Amino acid sequence: MPDANVVRLIREQANIVDIVSAYVRLQPSGKSYRALCPFHQEKTPSFYVSPDKGFWHCFGCGLGGDVIDFVQRIEGLTFPEAIAKLARLLGIRWRPSPTLRREEWMRERLLQLNQWAVDFFERALWTSEVGERARLYLFQRQVSTNTARLFRLGYAPSGWDNLAKAAQEAGFPVGELLQVGLVQRVREGGGVIDRFRDRLIFPIFNAQGEPIGFGGRTLGEGEPKYLNTPETPLFQKRKVLYALHLARQAIRERGEVVLVEGYMDAIALHQAGFPNTVATMGTALNTDTVQILKRYTNRLVIAYDRDSAGLNAVLRSADLFRQHELEVRFVDLPEGTDPDSFVRQAGAAGFRELLERAESLTKFRVTWLVCRYPHATTEGLQAAVRFLATLTDPIEQKSCLQMLAEEWSGRQPERLEALERALHRALVRYWRQQHRQSPQRSPTPSFSSDPLTDPITASLTTTSTIPLGVLQAEQDLMAALVQDKELAQRILASLAPEEFLLSRHQEIARLVKACLEDETFQDLPLLIGELGEEELRQTFSGLSLRDLSWANARNALEDRVHRLRRYRMEQQLRRQRAELLQKLSTGQISKDDPTWQVWQETLRALKLGTR
Ligand SMILES: [Zn+2]
Repeated sequence: MPDANVVRLIREQANIVDIVSAYVRLQPSGKSYRALCPFHQEKTPSFYVSPDKGFWHCFGCGLGGDVIDFVQRIEGLTFPEAIAKLARLLGIRWRPSPTLRREEWMRERLLQLNQWAVDFFERALWTSEVGERARLYLFQRQVSTNTARLFRLGYAPSGWDNLAKAAQEAGFPVGELLQVGLVQRVREGGGVIDRFRDRLIFPIFNAQGEPIGFGGRTLGEGEPKYLNTPETPLFQKRKVLYALHLARQAIRERGEVVLVEGYMDAIALHQAGFPNTVATMGTALNTDTVQILKRYTNRLVIAYDRDSAGLNAVLRSADLFRQHELEVRFVDLPEGTDPDSFVRQAGAAGFRELLERAESLTKFRVTWLVCRYPHATTEGLQAAVRFLATLTDPIEQKSCLQMLAEEWSGRQPERLEALERALHRALVRYWRQQHRQSPQRSPTPSFSSDPLTDPITASLTTTSTIPLGVLQAEQDLMAALVQDKELAQRILASLAPEEFLLSRHQEIARLVKACLEDETFQDLPLLIGELGEEELRQTFSGLSLRDLSWANARNALEDRVHRLRRYRMEQQLRRQRAELLQKLSTGQISKDDPTWQVWQETLRALKLGTR
């Protein structure tokens, strides 16, 4: 890890406006700058940068942080990588620790080896006689020479050790060849053979265009049809999106990404004029790939084959999409085709039409359900109810219920109504059952457990029980607390940090208090930056860019403090009232009890209702 001094120097010396404006068009807005957020799709700017505080924040998607967070996120770098980049940019000289240097050095060696292999395979494809078979294959699949060159396609000759020998001659030791997975040992302590033999080669690059691995397709009958680089220090399959380095610009420009499953699908679509296509390499989408894609867009169009593996992958990802607020649509490819074969038959215009008709995930799930259960059997109804219960939007739920009933009714009006009623009854029954089983978390069905265990959703649920007005009062106060020393002193004179409702706010308030006591209020942003918690920086960046003009109004501060106080007190009283009612019902106290009488009066005075 880079040492703390370098990190501190970067935070002090980096001009956040200069650095951010290399990626987004910033416009002055009061004391800060604003722009369209590069991390989510929007039409009106909600991305703000404060040069004074050295923080940025998007009020649309909630992301924010300091200059290091920004570079990490927009460039897709790890923390040490972002530090190295910024240090280089700012001319800060530092010595990487010996371990880091060794790691970086090793990584560089392995990348050079892979780059050498890309050239080796490419040469074999275009200039050797043995490459003829692969060239013929590309011709048959209608991949043009230009496209093949763009994707750096290659050919791995047959024979056991063509690459192994050539690589060693070029100065790469066997150890490194093993590390990147280009060769494998025949047996323990024995010699090595090439992993890829007589295969068409698809080099795999990361988003920065560095060669991290390879895929190989057999040209004959050999199994398996596709073979990939195993997991290596450079190549982690679940983080890879094929063709992203070629697609990322187009994804930003077009505002959406087309997702396919295979190499050939991605290549065919790029060639047909859909350069915003990437392939998920046969793995289902996961948190890692979704997070990578979210750097470029939150609109996904999925063009997977209609075979069940593809369908199931999409279905499993429904919760993932919801958690990451992705807008997902589904291309309905004709039975038995994939994007590659479809675009060859129907051309670019045909595929564009499919894209335009892409269905929402919900609509697709209805289609899938009906595909799987063509009739309204008990099993079908059960599956339908489980699916309907996951829809939180009542309008969407109703329209799905109607779609299902329509599909199953075979367009017979009398059956349609009966089916709608049956589905509705089953849904209500299902909810009641769920409610009885877990009264504290109704009516969310228990089988879609992901959103419930997700910490962010969980914290939002807690927040959402607080009335909006109270939450806004708290946020206003917190904004004043971090932005204005004088206001901070006034607020903390009447509110203790523990009196704020959200724990994140309490934590920041405690820090502000400590800074005021040390007379280091101006160092607060630096301190927050150093605490190393992204969530904390995100909350802080939001607060430090929040408007403070309300504070000029008379009693504005006092009103908000009062609001917060009153809410806390009400909550406390509610709890005590519940306890009293409990005691009353179990006969521990009676209504003639003086305690009870006093409580009734207090509650009435607070207009809380006495029941
Ligand atoms: Zn945003």
